Amino acid sequence: MASSVYDASAFYAGIPFASPVHGITTSIIFEEIKHIKKSHGAMDTLLETDRLRIQDPDSANIELVTSAAKKTGDAQKLSKADISAVALAYELKTNLVTDDFAVSNLAKNLGLQVTPIMTNGIKDVGKWIHYCAGCKKEFVGEEFCPNCGNKLNRKLLKR
Ligand SMILES: [Zn+2]
Repeated sequence: MASSVYDASAFYAGIPFASPVHGITTSIIFEEIKHIKKSHGAMDTLLETDRLRIQDPDSANIELVTSAAKKTGDAQKLSKADISAVALAYELKTNLVTDDFAVSNLAKNLGLQVTPIMTNGIKDVGKWIHYCAGCKKEFVGEEFCPNCGNKLNRKLLKR
């Protein structure tokens, strides 16, 4: 079985440390999370025992995932680290372990298998719609209403 890709939320939830399976993460995520278990040397142990590998996705896949995020409306909520995790899972055609709603939503929109950390899973897959409470209009990918300048509210349009 192919290794799973871990995003930052998977590390914060302690999944890689509790799991016997081999995982992969990107260098940008590793930089972000390596401090969390530093005192115990747990990150070093994962690397030394080959239970964790670090690999970065192709820039072409980062671009593809970034443009997909703009289409689903997840882009504003995703960091470079989040994008890198989705791009790596996409590149390796493997599942993504995440606890982050926006990361999960984007990955599922790309047809990836997502392993949620929460036991009930993330069932809502769809598209973020931004709407203006004043004009009662919906916009995709806008933060402020193009008509009246109000900050737009957000809701998830389910498929
Ligand atoms: Zn408006």
